[in-house]
Amino acid sequence: MTLTDTFNRPLRDLRISVTDLCNYRCPYCMPKEIFGSGHHFLPKAELLTFEEITRLASNFAAFGVRKIRLTGGEPLIRHGIEVLVGMLKQIPGLELAMTTNGSLLAQKAEALKKSGLDRLTISLDALDDTVYRQMNDVNSPLEKVLQGIAAAEAAGFGPLKFNMVVKRGMNDQQVVELARHFRGTGHIVRFIEYMDVGNSNGWRLDEVVSAQEIVAAIGAEFPLEPAKPNYHGEVANRWRYRDGAGEIGVIASVTQPFCGSCTRARLSATGQLYTCLFATNGHDLRAMLRLDFSDDQIREHLQTLWQLREDRYSEIRSAATSQQPKIEMSYIGG
Ligand code: SAM
Ligand code: SF4
Ligand code: SF4
Repeated sequence: MTLTDTFNRPLRDLRISVTDLCNYRCPYCMPKEIFGSGHHFLPKAELLTFEEITRLASNFAAFGVRKIRLTGGEPLIRHGIEVLVGMLKQIPGLELAMTTNGSLLAQKAEALKKSGLDRLTISLDALDDTVYRQMNDVNSPLEKVLQGIAAAEAAGFGPLKFNMVVKRGMNDQQVVELARHFRGTGHIVRFIEYMDVGNSNGWRLDEVVSAQEIVAAIGAEFPLEPAKPNYHGEVANRWRYRDGAGEIGVIASVTQPFCGSCTRARLSATGQLYTCLFATNGHDLRAMLRLDFSDDQIREHLQTLWQLREDRYSEIRSAATSQQPKIEMSYIGG
């Protein structure tokens, strides 16, 4: 059964945050000053168990969800994450993906592949070691993620996707570098406009490097032409190298919002369901699980929530909305 919301958008994708912890402190996501030693992270009992996540996932699948992405925080920090992958794999017809900073991938890639993970997206904000360390802000070396990438390739993942969030004055000089490095490899780099998620990153519009600027910078060196979306609702705009060396994606959520085709729901590590990345309030599904509601009751609730959905934050973004209280990216998942 397919559910549609008030703008006729079907529910197709579910992003599940498996932990609010992360070993990085990217300034655009978990700035050190706020997520420091005094920050209160979630106690384990608050997190959904693997069984709870799997039960919710199968209820979502019954409503037409075809793709689940595990995220966080850093999903590879969640102990036994490959076990969860294996459990989710038992649900028929689901594509399973993960977004990770890649720092622990060298140890985990093979187990993830064996458990049935279909696709990997690796966040990579620079190829220069100094800039990379500044972007993760915990002095983690580039070498570690490069080893992770090699392990992912060796385990049989591919094509890989790479996410680069571009922040003016921090890593914008690395855009063409990333494009150059992955041209001709079959992997796809997606350049992401820096967004006003959460309330802690001090977001300013003048720090956003627009998709248009990104495409112009890469295109000046390696001529590009637009490519058609692979499917309705694809988040990234695709651009192909004219010389046949592959493609890139740009995610222009600030300058060219795509709420009209947004088919994504997000489940926090504590089982709160959010119908938009910029939502203020979640819906407590964990309470339903722990109060012994039946699957029928959970589905009825999901149906009502999605049918009432009217989120379109990026289309109505303004100076005022960016100040509204919002959920942090590390809690809701990217
Ligand atoms: N820790 C994992 C990682 O970094 O890949 C998964 C979670 S992270 C929140 C998911 C994605 O969100 C990453 O690719 C990250 O770069 C992106 N992200 C975080 N904060 C962002 C922001 N303010 N604007 C745009 N993308 C952001
Ligand atoms: Fe951690 Fe990912 Fe956020 Fe960076 S973007 S701080 S790696 S959760
Ligand atoms: Fe979807 Fe909300 Fe992002 Fe719009 S702002 S694309 S509704 S998550």
